[in-house]
Order: sequence, then C-alpha cells, then structure tokens
Amino acid sequence: MDLTLCAPDYIRSISPYIPGKPISELAREMGIAEEKIVKLASNENPLGMSPKAHAAAQAALQELARYPDGSGFELKSAISAKIGIPAEQIVLGAGSNELLDLTARTFLHAGTSAVYSQHAFAVYPIATHTSGATGISTPAKNFGHDLDAMLAAIRPDTRVVFIANPNNPTGNYLGADELQNFLQKCPDNVIVVLDEAYNEYLAPAQRYNSVPWIAQHPNLLITRTFSKIYGLAGLRVGYAVTSAGIADLFNRVRAPFNINSVALAAAQAALNDTDFLRQSYQLNEQGLRQLEAGFAKLGCEHIPSSGNFITVKVGDAAHINQRLLEQGVIVRPIAGYGMPQWLRITIGTQAENARFLEALEVALK
Ligand SMILES: *Cc1c(COP(=O)(O)O)cnc(C)c1O
Repeated sequence: MDLTLCAPDYIRSISPYIPGKPISELAREMGIAEEKIVKLASNENPLGMSPKAHAAAQAALQELARYPDGSGFELKSAISAKIGIPAEQIVLGAGSNELLDLTARTFLHAGTSAVYSQHAFAVYPIATHTSGATGISTPAKNFGHDLDAMLAAIRPDTRVVFIANPNNPTGNYLGADELQNFLQKCPDNVIVVLDEAYNEYLAPAQRYNSVPWIAQHPNLLITRTFSKIYGLAGLRVGYAVTSAGIADLFNRVRAPFNINSVALAAAQAALNDTDFLRQSYQLNEQGLRQLEAGFAKLGCEHIPSSGNFITVKVGDAAHINQRLLEQGVIVRPIAGYGMPQWLRITIGTQAENARFLEALEVALK
C-alpha cells in the first residue's frame, strides 16, 4: 500500500525547497578538504556571528535541561525597545520561515489564494500549497515584484500577498513610496506579508521604516530574521511585527516552545551589537562592488542587488555550477526559480569573493 496516497494531492504535488549544498557534503562527494571549500550559497554572514551573541549562547548552554521561556519575554522586550512597538505586536518564529508558515496556516485553506511574484522566495508557494490554498504567481518586472500586477491579481478569495524586499534570489528593491502605495490600494482584508530578511543590508539612501505603517494598515505583517546580517542562521530565530489581533492568533497556532533557549539568548545579545552590524554591512558593500567589478571584467551580466548576494548570468548555469563545485566553490543555481541561466552568489569575505571569481573565470573557459 502506498501510504503517500493518504496525503492530499496538494501536499503530494509540493516541489521541495532546495537548500545550498552543505560544505561537508561537497567534501565527501569530491574528496576536497572542508577548509578548502568556499560556500557562498545560503546568504549567511561571512563574519560568522556577533561575539556578544556567541558569549550569550555559551552561557545559555548551562540551562538546557529547562524549557525555554515560551513567551520569549526578554527577546521581545528588547525588539520592542529597539523598533518602538509594543511587545504584544511581536511574534517570534523559528526563523522567519516559521512566520511565513504561520501566516499560511492561520489565514489560508482550500478555497482561498495567495499572491506572490515570479522569481520570489521559494517558501511562499510551499507555505501556500501546504495549506491547500491556490498560489497565484504574477510575472516579474525586471526580475523584481510588479506591484501593480500583484494588485490586479488579487481575487475575492485572496487572503495573503507575499512581498520580499529586497527580493531573494534577485536582489531587487522596492522603495517606501511604492510599498505604501500598494498598501493604500490593497483590500484591507488581505494580509500583506512584507518579508524584510535583508532589510539591514539596504544602503542608507534606500532605508525606510515600515513598522509605523501598521497603525494605518493592521493587515500589514513584517517579517525579519536573525539568520542573515545577525549571523545566527543555525539557531533559527526571526520575528514578525503586526497588529495585536494577528499576533494573538499566531501565538495560539505556533508550537508553545518554538524558539529554543540558546536562540533566545543569542538573538537578544546580537540585536544591539551595532559594531558587528556596521562591520557586516561594510564588508557586504565592499564585496558587492568587488563582485560587480569581477563580473564586468568577465563580461557577465548581473542584476543590481540590495541584499547580501548577487545574481549573475552565466549561460548554462547547471554546467558552470558543476565546474565551480569541482573547484570547491558552492554557489546557488536558481533554475528552480525560473532562471536557468543565472547563479546566485552570496557575498563573502574579500578572499572568498576573489576565490570565487577565479573559479568562475576557469569555469567559463
Ligand atoms: C533567508 C530568507 C528568509 C528567512 O530565513 P530564516 O532563516 O527562516 O529566517 C526569509 N525570506 C527571505 C526572502 C529569505 O531569503
């Protein structure tokens, strides 16, 4: 008996999320020493984590026999103080991924739909389909979100719209005016998820603060993460900011102890380590320029990026990716995002970027 047939069709037809290849896996496959491998595939912080977060995580190890604080009181208080919104409007998630999932579990079911863009984050269709809802993917404009097309795609049964700013994997950026205009026009019974996983990487002239918009638009749900600039991807912690009613629903739906105690402590310490954040931002800025210059030299087109990664056109990306792997360089093919000629490269340290560019030059020959 095929037990998978007991699951509904909408579950069995989900295309799995394809993560970046782990360093240990490539080392096994190619017989390359792990230290020689450069991984620029999962938009992780090349500086690692904040030393303050590291110390807090160490200290938290002493108390692992106890359950974590299921309300995340201290971390939420720290976030509340930093962004200026009451803690009751903040929900913690095991990565912002869990918050995207909670959005789908809370608001979507069979007979409803969610709208997202072509080339947008792969978790949106997965979360939507897991709930039995219909996904509506709108054509991209210059690889980024076409907000007018997204508005036009909203149907009476639409409950959620997902917007990533900057977008992953293309790095496209939407300005505050465009976003606010969208919120004005969007029906107020549609939850607008504004996924700001890379928000801290925006250049000073691009920065905006979406938190105060919730007062006018209670249907706005902002998600942020400690996985990217904060360097805590392995601990799985993120947060959502939204109206109190939605936050209350999420707190009922989520698992009671969804954030572990090490993650809670490390995230709280990382939150205000401004030196580390500044350093991380600057390294990324320099790395972006380094890769842009390298691509120009190699004659490769790229999409201007506002994140900690950059997407480059290499032709047969599956082939080039294989040739990079042979040289111990892991990047991310994005054929699954409808971009079979492109590779997404996470910005690394100066040395890692240089190593990648050398390998790319060899791979392109
Ligand atoms: C990385 C990423 C996330 C979040 O990842 P978590 O580790 O689950 O917080 C969310 N959205 C986008 C667009 C991302 O690229």
